[in-house]
Amino acid sequence: MKAIRIHHHGSVEQLRYEDMPAPELRSADDVIVGLKAAAINLADLQVRQGSAGQKTWLPRILGSDGAGVVNAVGSDVNNVKIGDAVCLYPQNGCRQCWACRGDRQEYCERPQRLGEQIDGTYAEYVRLSRQNCFAPPAGFSFEEAAAIPFAYLSAWRMLITDAELKPGEWILIRGIGDSVAIAALQLALSRGANIIVTADSGEKLSSALQLGAAHGIDESNQDFPPEVRRLTAKHGVDVVVDCIGGANWTHSFAALARGGRLVTCGASAGAQVVTDLRRIFWNNLKVFGSSLGTRDEFRQVLNFLETTRIKPVIDKVFPLAQAARAQDGLAAGQHFGKIVLRIED
Ligand SMILES: [Zn+2]
Repeated sequence: MKAIRIHHHGSVEQLRYEDMPAPELRSADDVIVGLKAAAINLADLQVRQGSAGQKTWLPRILGSDGAGVVNAVGSDVNNVKIGDAVCLYPQNGCRQCWACRGDRQEYCERPQRLGEQIDGTYAEYVRLSRQNCFAPPAGFSFEEAAAIPFAYLSAWRMLITDAELKPGEWILIRGIGDSVAIAALQLALSRGANIIVTADSGEKLSSALQLGAAHGIDESNQDFPPEVRRLTAKHGVDVVVDCIGGANWTHSFAALARGGRLVTCGASAGAQVVTDLRRIFWNNLKVFGSSLGTRDEFRQVLNFLETTRIKPVIDKVFPLAQAARAQDGLAAGQHFGKIVLRIED
């Protein structure tokens, strides 16, 4: 089969488009999926660079997001059958640590993530557990289904599970254009929240306004806390989604109302940030960090998308062989929505 694999960490030069044996069933729980699409995440770039949180053994096929058709199943697999379309939950627990034994796999100490600890989705076939296989929402293309897992699972975990966003609340989403931020916007809109977004370009802001954001602030030429206070009649926002970090991290706390919640799942502009702790205790703020979410949350995400008919925004689609161009496109940061790889038969 064809796959995009790295043998060393480094730049996109390390992404090798190569022929290799297709995976085969190894256990009764295994499923082989013939992939039709894979989506690109910043985490893929971090695995490539060797800066991801967990150890990756090389060589490795990259890619955590994927969708395709079931090609083979082990004898214990009863949730999917050959020929079914599937959308992939991107990780498993180790089944051994305290978290896995206590059914809290999201806190697993040694998670097995597609494209990181196990071979991923930038390939014609992938082997995974039946527990990773879910039916995509009806009417979704494979490209759209592949754009779901990382973005919507992260957004669901942050807004619904952690921040418990309520109708009528104000929410600020930093860095609109990124797929997690767009998923957060769509979720917040469906919850009846009032949405303010920030971005580094007017073009991204106008796209966000078309999707339903009430206000947009250009971070590149304006400090956003005073503008947030003005827009919310001094109240501030009840929830901030900040998956950017960097120099403006401190502004996210300044924009929060008393009792506000800040959620984060990324640090694309810098992980070493300055936080004024007094704001947190004076204003009774809550901070939630997360990394993806549980299988149960993934089920809720798929139900939500099926019911609401909300679809992921796709920025560009590249053939699998052009994974390097696709990753460079994500790194450049000019995208609005998901960058996806199409995998031909
Ligand atoms: Zn574990």
